[in-house]
Amino acid sequence: MTEKTDNVRVRFAPSPTGALHIGGGHTALFNWLWARHNNGKFILRIEDTDLVRSTKEYEQTIMSGMVWLGLDWDEGPDIGGNYGPYRQSERLDIYRDYAEKLVAEGKAYRDGEAIIFKVEPGQDISFKDIVYGQIDVMSDGLREKDSDKLKDIVIIKSDGMPTYNYAVVVDDHSMKITHVIRGEDHISNTPKQILLYRALGWEVPEFAHLPMILGRDKKKLSKRHGATSIYEYRDMGYMPDSMFNFLALLGWSAGDDKEIFTRPEAAELFELSRVTRKAAVFDFDKLNYINQEHLKALDPMVRLSMVKPFWIEAGLQVDKHSDKYLADSLTLMAGRGRTAKEMAEFSDYFVSFEPVKARWNAEGLDKEKLKPFFKALFESPEWKHEKLEEIARSWVSSQEGAKMKDYAMPLRFALTGMKVSPGIFEVAEHMGREECETRLKYYGLL
Ligand code: GLU
Repeated sequence: MTEKTDNVRVRFAPSPTGALHIGGGHTALFNWLWARHNNGKFILRIEDTDLVRSTKEYEQTIMSGMVWLGLDWDEGPDIGGNYGPYRQSERLDIYRDYAEKLVAEGKAYRDGEAIIFKVEPGQDISFKDIVYGQIDVMSDGLREKDSDKLKDIVIIKSDGMPTYNYAVVVDDHSMKITHVIRGEDHISNTPKQILLYRALGWEVPEFAHLPMILGRDKKKLSKRHGATSIYEYRDMGYMPDSMFNFLALLGWSAGDDKEIFTRPEAAELFELSRVTRKAAVFDFDKLNYINQEHLKALDPMVRLSMVKPFWIEAGLQVDKHSDKYLADSLTLMAGRGRTAKEMAEFSDYFVSFEPVKARWNAEGLDKEKLKPFFKALFESPEWKHEKLEEIARSWVSSQEGAKMKDYAMPLRFALTGMKVSPGIFEVAEHMGREECETRLKYYGLL
């Protein structure tokens, strides 16, 4: 199972009845990982047989959500491929033909416009799931509620549309899918699908069901736990790289303590056999940690492109500065901020003085005592942080009972409006002498 074969073909088969949510993104990602790990193919198939709830807009959002996560597909409705069409609504003839064949062979019967597959008793429809192991089921288990009658399987509904269990079998077979990787809520459908594979005389693919994703309260992840669609995370400032990394760790680990990885690294390390059965818990702290690590590791200009939109959204005039200045500002932040949005909030003072004024009004400050200090600071021939700090230190030691923070804190507030910032002399150097002068003068400190 751990051997690499390049004929692996897997698929993600969303119904376009909503945005790409965490569970769907997770399933898509595990399929992608398995395809890339094996140099196989990742197929996108749109299961749009629910004509009322399916829309082209949702299909688009699902696709762009996948693109955002970095999950590229090799065959799909937009790019085609050798086994299309890739939208179920365009495959109705295929479903009809096989259903007629089953009727002709006496394996299915008509009930009005519908076609129903006959379930024969005494059939072993057990299977070995790559993740969940042996699942024992007899066809006798498929009974009508509170009845002895075996429950036959509707394959074509009276409106002419195929049912999920039937269409998925026809498609997985005709698209040459080798591994069906999907949420564990489909385990109970698998035996029915196996019956259909057999009736059609087709080889049954391998199955790997993925553990459920729970909120921290151990309940199935839902809106109550916060954002459930992938795009909400983008809008909160999470990076696609970290979202990818985080989702990959829901129910899988590389085996050592390695938790931060890129897509190619994850694809190399991924093993279906290492997926756990235990439900995975969606832990925001972990997502934040992962996002922070990815933000830190980014190229400064790429990091800037992540943060800039949030400054703009906050109404800050980014175009007053060079990209170099802005990117260096973020480098100075040295990993502060767990998301691009937080990073933008924590560093807004580099972009503009306005938010500083809004946060701090210098109330209760002994300005007369501070003024000579700032005057001395501005007499520095060089506007370099080492030099500024040296001046500050000698000033403090010349004042009876004075401490560095008595001067550094007002300086920090006047420049940033915040209690916490990177080294304040480094901030001052980076902002430049003139900008610092403007801010200190505004507060009457110079
Ligand atoms: N359209 C089904 C779903 O979204 C696909 C299930 C499967 O992968 O077989 O749940």
